[in-house]
Amino acid sequence: MNKVAVIGSGFSGLAAASFLAKDGMDVHVFEKNSLPGGRARKFQTGGFVFDMGPSWYWMPEVFEKFFNAFGKSHSDFYHLKRLDPSYRIYFGKDDVLDIPAGEEALCKMFDELEPGSSKNLRKFLEEGKYKYELGINELVYKPGLSIFELLDPKVVSGVFRLHVFSSISSYIRKFFKEPRIIKLLEFPVLFLGSTPQNTPALYSLMNYADMALGTWYPMGGMYEIVNGMYEVARSQGVQFHFDSPVTGMEMNGVKAKGIRANGALHQADYIVAGADYNHVEQTLLPEGFRRYNQKYWDTRVMAPSSLLFYLGVNKRVKNLLHHNLFFDQDFGLHAKEIYEDPKWPTAPQFYVSCPSVTDPSVAPEGHENVFILIPVAPGLQDDPATREKYFNLVMDRLEHITGQSIRPHIVYNRSYAHNDFISDYNAFKGNAYGLANTLLQTANLKPGILNKKVKNLFYTGQLTVPGPGVPPSIISGEVVARELVKRHKEM
Ligand SMILES: Cc1cc2nc3c(=O)[nH]c(=O)nc-3n(C[C@H](O)[C@H](O)[C@H](O)COP(=O)(O)OP(=O)(O)OC[C@H]3O[C@@H](n4cnc5c(N)ncnc54)[C@H](O)[C@@H]3O)c2cc1C
Repeated sequence: MNKVAVIGSGFSGLAAASFLAKDGMDVHVFEKNSLPGGRARKFQTGGFVFDMGPSWYWMPEVFEKFFNAFGKSHSDFYHLKRLDPSYRIYFGKDDVLDIPAGEEALCKMFDELEPGSSKNLRKFLEEGKYKYELGINELVYKPGLSIFELLDPKVVSGVFRLHVFSSISSYIRKFFKEPRIIKLLEFPVLFLGSTPQNTPALYSLMNYADMALGTWYPMGGMYEIVNGMYEVARSQGVQFHFDSPVTGMEMNGVKAKGIRANGALHQADYIVAGADYNHVEQTLLPEGFRRYNQKYWDTRVMAPSSLLFYLGVNKRVKNLLHHNLFFDQDFGLHAKEIYEDPKWPTAPQFYVSCPSVTDPSVAPEGHENVFILIPVAPGLQDDPATREKYFNLVMDRLEHITGQSIRPHIVYNRSYAHNDFISDYNAFKGNAYGLANTLLQTANLKPGILNKKVKNLFYTGQLTVPGPGVPPSIISGEVVARELVKRHKEM
């Protein structure tokens, strides 16, 4: 059997490992942390169960497709619930919008906000559907190795309908004028780690994912996805080595001999690197074998990092849904302070997830599980005083807008930011979501899945194709496994 060493057990590593083992490889996953899941790990304390990273379950068929490939369904591992309303947006204290699930209810809401706009919404979603179907069925499964991949007849014939060369910001404004509608439609772009002005209108497919395909929640928490994928991997024979940080790779000419972990060399015929791309290249690979130099990395547009707070509250918190977006401040300034002039934000927008609204198992009875996320520039100086300042800033606004005191009821409070992303995941500049999906960092223009100097090394994960987010990371693992097996068979 050919042996594969997979570095990292995030979604991409888990997916790649499972597909490779299914194809008959002897797969070993080396993970620096003590449990799988990477940025989607969880922790438990005092009856609270906190998902540490992702909280939005979008594009359910991508998860289902993964489980189906192994003769399973998501329902073998967790129960999915569609959220309705999908989420709440606070534009100000008394300016609230609950986004309903279902096109008819959405059309009604749009007409109330901007009379007659439901007609445009239907057209907008129809165009988003076209992009989604072409994108998800054709584009995202391409390995990004040659420009000719994009010359697929379906892609070429539909290129004008994909709106690759216009920004989503101007595209949305062709359909709608009402500022709240515009903010609502620009929101999913934040998942792509870039601004609406710098994101191709191709990504209105995310609006289709949001509004037509819906926001779901796996009961028990997002970590149930990891549990399911971990079980699939083990059922295929994948062996996991936790608390095993990879410290380097050893070379033999143009091939890697194996990886070093726990003080030993683990020989492998192939290596799949699911840890952060920059870390693998700049730290684990000897100089001379790196595909990109530090200058390349320094000129990439990174997706934001995040300042997070995991709060246990000893009462039920009023006026919060499961997902809540606080868009009561100008995103223009906040975006500038993330991308153009990186600094701690003056008046950030933020997001609050409250999974205990849907799921009693994630908090003790009568308590609330509250997760706060503030997107911030990567590479900032992260210290306890800054975290505390932003905790108070956000709590002031949260308490004011939702009309209650929360701070005296907090029984658990843990913060998480750049320094933790670096120490837990070796994240370049402490990024949370990898690279921004700008036009110049899309598809073939992302860091590639192959290293031409090391023939048996492959990269997967949110820094390569197709990009950041849980569904793309799962797809990334499959794409890389397929490419590796194809090349192996050709040898
Ligand atoms: C706060 C936050 C919120 C998010 N919200 C959402 C959301 O709501 N919906 C969504 O779809 N996506 C969301 N995302 C993005 C999503 O979580 C990621 O895109 C995805 O989990 C990345 O998976 P990955 O496999 O590429 O990387 P990772 O999860 O980072 O996995 C890489 C693994 O490699 C390991 N590793 C690193 N260095 C080494 C080493 N030297 N040796 C061994 N192991 C190593 C790490 O420990 C880690 O386990 C969010 C991310 C964050 C951080």
